[in-house]
Amino acid sequence: MEGLVIKNYAGFYYVDTGKIIYRCKARGKFKKDNIKILTGDRVVISVLIPDSEGVIESLLPRKNELIRPPIANVDQVLLVFSFANPSPNSELIDRLLVMAGAADLDVVLVFNKSDLAVLESQQLFEYYRRILPKTVAISAHAEIGIDHLMNYLKHKISVLAGPSGVGKSTLVNRLVPGAKLVTGEVSPKIGRGRHTTRHVELIKLPLGGFLADTPGFSNLNLPEIDKKDLQNYFPEIKENRIFCHYPDCLHVKEPECRIRELIHKGEIPSFRYENYKAFLEEISQRERSY
Ligand code: GDP
Repeated sequence: MEGLVIKNYAGFYYVDTGKIIYRCKARGKFKKDNIKILTGDRVVISVLIPDSEGVIESLLPRKNELIRPPIANVDQVLLVFSFANPSPNSELIDRLLVMAGAADLDVVLVFNKSDLAVLESQQLFEYYRRILPKTVAISAHAEIGIDHLMNYLKHKISVLAGPSGVGKSTLVNRLVPGAKLVTGEVSPKIGRGRHTTRHVELIKLPLGGFLADTPGFSNLNLPEIDKKDLQNYFPEIKENRIFCHYPDCLHVKEPECRIRELIHKGEIPSFRYENYKAFLEEISQRERSY
């Protein structure tokens, strides 16, 4: 029987087979071969006690693996920010978009507290919606947009990320009444995120799909990417770069640069370009320090 490991606790793996959750031990070969079974792994089990206990016989191939929280087969990151209290920090949004993109994860960008939306954050939201189709405005309090969001979470394994106070715990509670989020958010200071050593658990969503109960991306260092690849995570730069005169244009000083032209025209907002340049500098500094 095939199932999904939703929790690893006190030496047992809890395997969701669709209708029943089996409490399982793993065959000795996993330990012998030094193979670690993670939450999020798809496994094949044999049943020891009907509807109750089983044994993990084999592990199905993994699509990917996050380090923190340790979880396999993550489909997407649910990035949560809020319209106000705290107001959205575009540098942090862009940084998390680069991190998710480099990890090959889809992104659902959520702006919570739509009941508090002010013009400036509304404009920011509109811009992100243009470049990232899966951007949604919700109010976890007023129950606005929750169904729309739920559709994006269906049949997927999602991990939350976002700063403190934006409403992640409130949202998780809206999605699954009674469910609890383990705290430990990203901190705006680079690399100072809190580490969570506790086991991670997948929460089953009512329409199908799972949400990790521990937020990810607490370490905010940019991924180890090449300077030339940074633009891959800025869709509006990526799609226009072919119009630059130089094929290896980084859009900083090079002449006949289409991207800088679009910024002058106001078609790409300067905050996005400033973040791009700051990240480029961060990557350069790291390269110089090697
Ligand atoms: P977390 O730190 O991201 O988990 O945020 P919490 O879920 O603890 O929420 C932080 C604060 O924002 C709490 O006081 C919530 O009641 C409040 N909050 C959450 N969602 C909303 C919302 O949609 N509108 C408003 N006005 N407040 C909200």
